[in-house]
Amino acid sequence: MRADMDIKFLAGVGERRASLLSTELGIRSVGDLLHHYPHRYIDRTKVYRIAELREENALSMVQLRGRIVGKAYLGEGRKQRLVATMVDSTGEIELVWFQRTNWVEKQLEVGREYILLGKPSFFGGKANIVHPELETVEKFLSRGNLGMQGVYGTTEKLTAVGLGSKGLYTLQCTLWEQIKESIVETLPEELVHSLDLMSRREALQNIHFPSSPRALQAATYRLKFEELFGVQLGILSLKAGRTTMQNGFFFPRVGELFSDFYNNHIPFPLTGAQKRVVKEIRADFTSGHQMNRLLQGDVGSGKTLVALMSMLLAADNGYQSCMMAPTEILARQHFASITKMLRGTAAEGRVAVLTGSTKVKERRQILERTESGEVLILIGTHALIEDRVKFGNLGLVVIDEQHRFGVEQRAKLWTKNSQPPHILVMTATPIPRTLAMTLYGDLDVSVIDEMPVGRKPIKTYHLKEALRLRLHGFMREQIALGRQVYVVYPLIKESEALDYQNLYDGFDNIIKAFPTPDYTVGVLHGKMHPDDKALAMKLFAEGNHNILVATSVIEVGVDVPNASVIVIESAERFGLSQLHQLRGRVGRGAEQSYCILMSGDNLSRDAEARLAAMVETTDGFKLSELDLKLRGAGDVNGTRQSGEAIDLRIASLSTDGQILEQARMVASSILEGDPQLTKPEHRGLAALRERYKPAAAIDYGMIS
Ligand code: ADP
Ligand code: MG
Repeated sequence: MRADMDIKFLAGVGERRASLLSTELGIRSVGDLLHHYPHRYIDRTKVYRIAELREENALSMVQLRGRIVGKAYLGEGRKQRLVATMVDSTGEIELVWFQRTNWVEKQLEVGREYILLGKPSFFGGKANIVHPELETVEKFLSRGNLGMQGVYGTTEKLTAVGLGSKGLYTLQCTLWEQIKESIVETLPEELVHSLDLMSRREALQNIHFPSSPRALQAATYRLKFEELFGVQLGILSLKAGRTTMQNGFFFPRVGELFSDFYNNHIPFPLTGAQKRVVKEIRADFTSGHQMNRLLQGDVGSGKTLVALMSMLLAADNGYQSCMMAPTEILARQHFASITKMLRGTAAEGRVAVLTGSTKVKERRQILERTESGEVLILIGTHALIEDRVKFGNLGLVVIDEQHRFGVEQRAKLWTKNSQPPHILVMTATPIPRTLAMTLYGDLDVSVIDEMPVGRKPIKTYHLKEALRLRLHGFMREQIALGRQVYVVYPLIKESEALDYQNLYDGFDNIIKAFPTPDYTVGVLHGKMHPDDKALAMKLFAEGNHNILVATSVIEVGVDVPNASVIVIESAERFGLSQLHQLRGRVGRGAEQSYCILMSGDNLSRDAEARLAAMVETTDGFKLSELDLKLRGAGDVNGTRQSGEAIDLRIASLSTDGQILEQARMVASSILEGDPQLTKPEHRGLAALRERYKPAAAIDYGMIS
C-alpha cells in the first residue's frame, strides 16, 4: 500500500468519514493517518482490583476485570438510567449509563466476564463509573495487543461518526496490517546504526502499538529525531542555497563617513559586544554573499548604534540604506536620534523619515531625494515598502523589531534594487535557542550580550490593589527626584472597548492623584491622531510630562532615558515577553529604575508564575525559556495562528532541545558532504527534506 493513497479507500472509512477526517484533523492520505500519533497511552497490562480504587484514581482512566452480576433501569422518563453491577474477587462497583441505554443493555450479559476501561468517580466513598467501555474478555484477548494502547486526539464531530479515540485506534490496526510491509527506512543505515536509532518500521509500529515502555521510548526518540532532522535539513539547505550564490553587494571601503563618526561623533564608546557585531557585519559586507543577519540584543543593549554604523559603511561604498520600524513613533524617534548623532558629519541633512502621515508635499520631496540618491538613510514605517518609494542605489535594509514584519513585506524590499540588498533584522525579543534554530535557522545570528556600562538592574515589584496609595507615594518621590513615570494599560482586541474604559478611568485617577499645576500627565494610545501621538511622545521625551499614561503602544523600542519607573496595570493580562519588553522602556539611563507590576488579587497559577519570574530576573533569555515552557512553542512562535506552522507532530521545541541540537549537527555534516543530497544512500533524506521544507512564506515573525 502506498502512503499517499486516499484515506477514503481504507476499509472502515468511506467518503463521509474521509471528508471529516480531512477537515477535522487534516488527514487525507493513509500516510497522514500513520503519522497521527497517540498523545498518550493506557497501560493495558495494569488491571486494578475494585477494592484498590482510591479517590486519587478519580477521573483518570483505569482498567478493571470483572463479572456483571446485575443490571436494571432506575429512574423515570428523561432521567432514566441503566445501572449495572460488576464484581471481582475484591468487591463490587456500579456502572452507569445515561444515554443510548438500549444498545448498551443488549450487549451487557449478566454472568459474563468483561474488561472495563473508565474513569471512576466517588460518592460517599463508594466508586462508580459513568459510561465505561466494555469488552468481553475473549474479545480483548483475541486482539493480541495487551500492552499499552494509544489514545488518539479526535474531535466531537469525528466521535459522532464512530471515530473517537477507540475508533481511530481500530483504523490504525487495520492500516498497520496493510501498510507495514511497504514502510521503508528514510535515514541512511550508517546513521541509524551510529545513533543507535530504532528502524523506521519498528518505530511506527511501536508508536501506535508499543510492545513495552522501553520500545515506546525508543520509538518516540526515533520519530522525534527524524522530524527535527527533516526540519533542519530543509532550513540548512535554504541557507546553503543563499550562501553559495555570489550575489551580495560588495562594501570593501571603510571611508570618511564611518571613520569620522567613529572617531569624532560617537556619543559613547561601543561596548565589546557592539564592536564584535559591527565586525561580523563588516565581514558579511565583504563576503560576496547577500547578508541575512539577525541581530538579537536585549532591550536597551544598543542595537540602534550598530545599525547606524552599518548604514554609514554602506554610504561609504556608495549605497543607500533604509531602516524600517514597526510604528510611527519609533520611526520618528530613530530619525530624531540618528539626525542628532550625525550632526556635524558629512551625512548631516541626508537622513529622512517617511511614514503614513507624511504630508503630500514633503513626501514628494523625500521621494525625489531618495531616488536621486541624495538621501543616504531613509527611515520609516511600512510606507517604505510602497512601490512609489524608489531608491537610487539601495544596498542595506535594516528592520527594527522585526516581529511585526512578514516575509512578504521584506521580500518586497529585496526588489528595490537589481540585486537583493543586505538585510539586518534586529530584535529585542529574546528567542529561546531551540526556537531560533527552527524559525531563524537559515539566518546568521549576532548577539549583543552585554549592556552599556553603568546600567543598574531594574528593580521589579509585584503589588496588589490594596497598596495603590503606597504606589502613588512612591511615584511622587521619584518625580520629586526629577524622574518620569510610564503607566501602561493592556489593550487587547477582544476587549478593546472595556480596555479603553480602563485606560480612561486610570487616566482620571492619575490626574486626581497628581493634579496640576504640580504635575503634568500625558496620554498616548493607538486611536489618537498621528500628530497627537507624536506630540504626546515628544512632550514626554523632552521631560515636559511627569507621567505618561499609555497602552502598550510604547512596548516597542521607545527610548526616554529619564523615565525610570514603569507601572504596568493588570500585569497578569500580559504575556511574559511583552512584560519584559515593557520593562525595557526603563533602565536606559544611569539612575536606579523600577518596574511595578499591578495585578488583581486572584491570579491563575500561570499568571502568578509569570509575575514571579519577572520579579526574580531581568534576563530576557531566561524569561523566554520560561515563556516557552509555560505557553508551549506553538503559541510562542505565533506561527500556528498565522497558519504557517512548522508542523511538528511529535517533537516539541520546548522540551526536545537536545534532540534538536543533535539533529542540526548531523544535518549540517551530511549537507556539507552532499549539499544536493544526490548520493544514492541519501535518497530517503531528499524526500524527508522535501516533506519538511520550510514554506517560502515562513513568517520569521514571532512573539508579538
Ligand atoms: P535597543 O537595543 O533596545 O534598540 P537602543 O539602541 O535604543 O537599544 O539603546 C538604548 C540606550 O542605550 C540608548 O539611550 C542609547 O543611546 C544607549 N547606548 C547605546 N549604546 C551605548 C553604549 N555603548 N554606551 C552607553 N550607552 C549606549
Ligand atoms: Mg531599539
